Amino acid sequence: MAGDGLPIGRPTDVAVHAYLELAEERNEVLLGYWLDSNQRLLGYDRIAYGGETTASFSVNRAARLGIAAGASAAYFLHNHPTGTAEPSPNDIKSADRIDQYMANVDILALGHFILAGTEVRNIRSGRTLDIVPASDYTGARCPNCNHRLEDPEP
Ligand SMILES: [Zn+2]
Repeated sequence: MAGDGLPIGRPTDVAVHAYLELAEERNEVLLGYWLDSNQRLLGYDRIAYGGETTASFSVNRAARLGIAAGASAAYFLHNHPTGTAEPSPNDIKSADRIDQYMANVDILALGHFILAGTEVRNIRSGRTLDIVPASDYTGARCPNCNHRLEDPEP
């Protein structure tokens, strides 16, 4: 598990972090972000990687990682390295499976997101998260320091 120094686990924090984590990733990766009962981020894990689709990964592994992190709630996010952020029927089915499985171990699944390029889509609502708040720059910025994500650290 990783996640040192991550801020409060709002969906936009998760989206920006995942954008950085998966920017160079050419395979589909499913990330789980673990939160405590105050919705503070405890950390995150790579739940599934590579050729696996989100429909075939082990929800049991997701649950074990969430329990190990001491999570009360979680966000789930996977990337579409070549596609759009549009959820596939399998994405929606997977989200349902995760919700049910997590409920069995008392972890509330707060949301499921798809990252494609700089776009992050909520699988349930279809809404897109804004990770590009600055008007003078077309790339993503850090929500905490407003620094361009592509630039080296200030
Ligand atoms: Zn997908």
